[in-house]
Amino acid sequence: MAPAKVYKNYIGGEWVESRTGKTFENLNPADNRDVVGIFQASGKEDVDDAVAAAKTAFEKWRLVPAPKRAEIIFRAGEILTERKEDYARDMTREMGKVLKETRGDVQEAIDTAYFMAGEGRRLFGATVPSELPNKFAMALRVPIGVVGMIAPWNFPMAIPSWKIFPALVCGDTCVIKPAEDTPLSTINLVRALIDAGLPKGVVNIVTGFGPEAGSPIVNHPDVRAISFTGSSEVGRIIGEAAARTFKPCSLEMGGKNAIIVLDDANIDLAVDGAVWGAFGTTGQRCTAASRMVVQKGAYDEFVSKFAQQAKSLKVGAGLDEASDMGPQINAQQIETTTKYVEIGKSEGAKVLAGGNRLNKGDQAHGWFFEPTIFGDGHAKMRIAQEEIFGPVATVIPVKSVDEAVEIANGTMYGLSSAIYTRDINKAFRAIRDIDAGITYINAPTIGAEVHLPFGGVKATGNGHREGGLGAIDFYCQWKSVYVDYSDKLQRAQIDTGE
Ligand code: ADP
Repeated sequence: MAPAKVYKNYIGGEWVESRTGKTFENLNPADNRDVVGIFQASGKEDVDDAVAAAKTAFEKWRLVPAPKRAEIIFRAGEILTERKEDYARDMTREMGKVLKETRGDVQEAIDTAYFMAGEGRRLFGATVPSELPNKFAMALRVPIGVVGMIAPWNFPMAIPSWKIFPALVCGDTCVIKPAEDTPLSTINLVRALIDAGLPKGVVNIVTGFGPEAGSPIVNHPDVRAISFTGSSEVGRIIGEAAARTFKPCSLEMGGKNAIIVLDDANIDLAVDGAVWGAFGTTGQRCTAASRMVVQKGAYDEFVSKFAQQAKSLKVGAGLDEASDMGPQINAQQIETTTKYVEIGKSEGAKVLAGGNRLNKGDQAHGWFFEPTIFGDGHAKMRIAQEEIFGPVATVIPVKSVDEAVEIANGTMYGLSSAIYTRDINKAFRAIRDIDAGITYINAPTIGAEVHLPFGGVKATGNGHREGGLGAIDFYCQWKSVYVDYSDKLQRAQIDTGE
């Protein structure tokens, strides 16, 4: 086998080695003998260099007209379209999910590029009447400065694109630290931007681990805002650190998303949705459906069809087009899944499908786990409360729509939710009463589109949104401008004309 390629940090428009002199291996989760690449294990000094480069670049970038900034993003979208297959294959190799999903991940970056490119000719502010005569008032969106970005591994190109593209169109520059398991896809994304003509220093990448390479970004005084996607535990650390220096901080974190299935639902449709929601991305989405809350009249049919379909999924390497579900990302995630399956059994839930690690034959060097379903679940069980981030779903029987909504709302999280019903009244009731950032009707909890706000409530987020309008609100700040052309001193609230 050829020696693994060495990838460098991207700082000030140059590919550079880390000043720590340290590197780490990025392994294929389907076969950990396959080294995807050697990456820089960066530290504070690298972050200092990257922030300095971003700060210098900001002075010019903020003055580039937004439609021109947007043209670069548009071209990056075109380049990503040309390279979609190659980048999807790189992503499957480093992250594990099946090719049709990594193609979707690249597509999400392309969609985001096109949406944000259009935003270059909008970035709408507001012009409003002044309360005083001969005075003009408006609110403009202006850039923030250097934004620090910390990304997870489950959407290795889509999530960085949700952060980088809106920041760029708003006129910000950035330093991004990809997750240690998936740095290559961020590098590929940024390569598209470089080839599209991005000026030096506007986007900088430092690869490495959270405490060493992520924390210095959060704490750097010249970083003016932070965008983080990852676990609620790390989000709390980052939110607290950002608060100390008054940085705006967008946190997108965990979920324990429920699909409600009512008696009147199209059960086959609900089962298809449950399988995709629970086992897409091997259950490693923050929007994964990990709880199926099923009304008693539909319960038996639902669980038997759900278990049957889960058992028929082909688990295998994502690069094999025949695979339905790829491996988990790493040893730690497999351990977590294994632990929760034991917890579920000890809590009295019944294994209806799966429950085991797959590590025989071809799969001995990967992190494979069977699609796993627990039946007879109870809302208060740990498997129904805690985020597992693996291919494990718990089915909970309920009597009524009221009870179902109460259970859907009864966790610390509030990201996504779904209800299957043919009763329009109950659907609207769910839209109104489910305490989550996203609600799907007759579709699973996954499948967000890039132009709608994405995010959640409670331990899922701190009030910001990614995607479309939500992102523009985060990456710009407001400047209110008053132009007085009366040629005399006018005093708001005092010169009332009385
Ligand atoms: P996951 O469980 O999805 O891996 P994490 O929250 O552990 O999510 O990681 C998400 C991102 O946060 C990764 O890029 C990781 O390196 C980074 N990270 C982890 N710990 C810290 C920290 N203390 N400070 C800054 N970033 C961190």
